[in-house]
Amino acid sequence: MHVFTQVSGLQKRVATARERNKRIAFVPTMGALHEGHLSLIEKAQEVADYVVVSIFVNPTQFNDPKDLEMYPRPLSFDIAKLEAIGANVLFLPSVQEIYPAELDFVVDVDFGLLTKVLEGVYRPGHFEGVIKVVYRLLEITQPDVLIMGQKDFQQVAIIRHMIQELHLPVELIANPIVREADGLALSSRNVRIDPSQRPRANSIFYILSEAKTIWHSTTPTEVNRVGASKLEQAGFRVEYYEVVDGHTLETVEQWDQHEYLVICVAAWLGQVRLIDNMILQDVKITV
Ligand code: AMP
Repeated sequence: MHVFTQVSGLQKRVATARERNKRIAFVPTMGALHEGHLSLIEKAQEVADYVVVSIFVNPTQFNDPKDLEMYPRPLSFDIAKLEAIGANVLFLPSVQEIYPAELDFVVDVDFGLLTKVLEGVYRPGHFEGVIKVVYRLLEITQPDVLIMGQKDFQQVAIIRHMIQELHLPVELIANPIVREADGLALSSRNVRIDPSQRPRANSIFYILSEAKTIWHSTTPTEVNRVGASKLEQAGFRVEYYEVVDGHTLETVEQWDQHEYLVICVAAWLGQVRLIDNMILQDVKITV
């Protein structure tokens, strides 16, 4: 695996791969790699023949400085995992390399509701940071395919919208959520869950799964109310638990007015904020 810390080196290597007619897939991450990240890399290897992974803990998407400071950075383990899985390139830029002082850019897209609801309410500025870094990383890497995780459902919806609005020549693939055996969605932040609270952490998955079996026999409002109340009973502090339209992220009030339905949830377990989601009714989307 080739490791590049600078844009110029990465771009030369990707250009060579392209000259050799390789299809290039890009998997952006913030490191602390787990099976969820590795599933994205496996997907990338399935749909392309040259896989670029980035590890960049993007400061502009952290609305909470403590979260940024506490973010795990086990770099040598990450590199070993990437070597073992057979990634072709690791891009490991500094903050200066991604945001050089002379480079000032805005991503001129109207995201409407997409950035304002759910995470947008509780993590002000977060998506502005995500949009900027993904735009910049795409500009640097110029991949044919971008692979992201459905775990961050809203993030995928926003990046899909950006790609469509700017006519970026990249295909977006969203890969399903990878979970622990007990149902907890894998996340780099899970290492911070207090061991005494860990057995309860999978309640989110069980409550979402239950909602998936009963939703059509009740109303969206009731699904939201019951889910949030069960989570609170399980010891979580709920920020949102809401059935939304999978395309627009607007609140679902009546089932028959939406074809793509997903429950999105964010809740605190002790000092750790967990997010998860469950698709109730799916549609095929292509960018
Ligand atoms: P992060 O390192 O948290 O920025 O995540 C990098 C990518 O991995 C994002 O596209 C995430 O959605 C994805 N990802 C994180 N956790 C999971 C998971 N449990 N299953 C699938 N994809 C995931």
